[in-house]
Amino acid sequence: MELKANDMQLVQCPSCSQSTLKIENGCHSCLNEDCGFSKCDV
Ligand SMILES: [Zn+2]
Repeated sequence: MELKANDMQLVQCPSCSQSTLKIENGCHSCLNEDCGFSKCDV
């Protein structure tokens, strides 16, 4: 896996259980293309 962004915070995705969940501006979006989980909680 190749990750570019230095400041990107990745946590475990509740959907696919991979550490590919990006948190940005209060929105969660999974970087796993097979998952596609996304959710915004503000
Ligand atoms: Zn996921």
